[in-house]
Amino acid sequence: MRKTLYLKFVLAYFIFGVFSFIVVTTFVPTMTMEHLTREKAKNLYEEASYIAGNYASGLYANVTDLETVKEHLDSLAVYLDSTIRIINPSGRLVLDTNTPLNVEDVVMIENFDPTVTGGSYYIVDKFFDSFESDMLSVLAPITYEYKVRGYVVIHCDINDIQASCNSLLNISYITLAVLLLLSLIILIFFTEMVYVPLRKITHATEQYASGNMHYEFQVESEDEIGYLAACLNYMAKQIAGAEDDQKKFVANVSHDFRSPLTSIRGYLDAMLDGTIPPEQYRKYLEIVLNETERLTKLTNSLLTLNNLNTKGMLLDRGDFDINSVIRSTAASFEGTCRKKNISIELILTGEEMFVNADMGKIQQVLYNLIDNAIKFSHHDSVITIETSLKKNKLFVSVKDTGIGIPKDDQKLIWDRFYKSDLSRGRDKKGTGLGLSIVKEIINSHGENINVISTEGVGSEFIFSLSLSAESEEED
Ligand code: ADP
Repeated sequence: MRKTLYLKFVLAYFIFGVFSFIVVTTFVPTMTMEHLTREKAKNLYEEASYIAGNYASGLYANVTDLETVKEHLDSLAVYLDSTIRIINPSGRLVLDTNTPLNVEDVVMIENFDPTVTGGSYYIVDKFFDSFESDMLSVLAPITYEYKVRGYVVIHCDINDIQASCNSLLNISYITLAVLLLLSLIILIFFTEMVYVPLRKITHATEQYASGNMHYEFQVESEDEIGYLAACLNYMAKQIAGAEDDQKKFVANVSHDFRSPLTSIRGYLDAMLDGTIPPEQYRKYLEIVLNETERLTKLTNSLLTLNNLNTKGMLLDRGDFDINSVIRSTAASFEGTCRKKNISIELILTGEEMFVNADMGKIQQVLYNLIDNAIKFSHHDSVITIETSLKKNKLFVSVKDTGIGIPKDDQKLIWDRFYKSDLSRGRDKKGTGLGLSIVKEIINSHGENINVISTEGVGSEFIFSLSLSAESEEED
């Protein structure tokens, strides 16, 4: 593919060159010669008419003599670089600037026919074989007393016209050669600006096709090709990143599944082989139950994430009262809160606040955030859930006064399977998937979620929601 594109361009260049050459060497010379002949003939005809009217007619009117006319015409012939003749209608040569005047010697132009020029006022030939080579001849009648008495004929060597035509053509040939050389610049430009980058891009796509998504290449141009290369580079990086993410994801999933399974298997083995005595069964079965709970939670979270991804964020949007959803979700944590003596304080804007979102998914967001807030809060503390209105948006904040998140970890908590070191001791059942689900849901709504946290002081998660059309109007 690569070779043919370049070859095509080079071929097109040569075809262009050959055609230009053919045009310049065939049409242009004919047209130039025709034009020059016509122009010359026009000038000579004007001269001939002038001579016929001013000198020659006087000759027939016996006003001037032949010698005087000849003298005049001789100098005019030198000036015009041509031969001037006066011919009688019978064909008798009265005067010829090329030969001395001799009245005795009667020279006849055989078969002389004044209508030889036809519709035109000039003719190119040997003029009734009176010249050795082709001449451009123009005829102007000499009239006296309403009768044609003779003709002034001016002959110009066609080779002289050809010579000036050739010097003109030389200019055209030089111009053509310069143009062809200049158009080589286009070829060089094409090679540098299109062909070389295109080769790099093709090579890169071959690398990507063979699976080397980490291949990097540089195209230093800011045009469409540069943009294409940048897009391709970006795409490859994204795919490479996605591949790495997928590998990490599978590694994490396997790890998170393996550890509870190992401990379940270990305890069950120990029970079977008698290492654990029957009176301690209850204690270890509870541990096994805990581990299975963790596995269930992990599986559910993975399924939720998978659904969010594959459905391309298909949301079941509708208007609902966020206040009642917050109240009911908070209420579902009553049992857990009681164990740690944690209270949830609700500071809600308005009795009812209608937002437009997928209710089930927002419920899940609230559930995950409150669950985390409780998990990472100290005993006897307060969790505050607050809503506030700002620029047609409702902001929901879930705030705790727990362990907080170290600054460096704050960017990472949204990643799948991420658990900060601080939390590991406190939360053995955590999967590290809760916040990535939250982020995915909020982003799929076209909204944002942020965290403000200080290690040892507490954390606040704030997300935005769109108000329902009715609430917006009231607002
Ligand atoms: P998990 O299911 O393990 O809680 P998440 O994705 O919900 O997973 O949370 C990821 C990590 O973010 C947690 O392991 C914890 O380190 C940190 N985190 C989340 N919420 C809080 C919070 N309210 N206070 C302190 N740390 C938190």
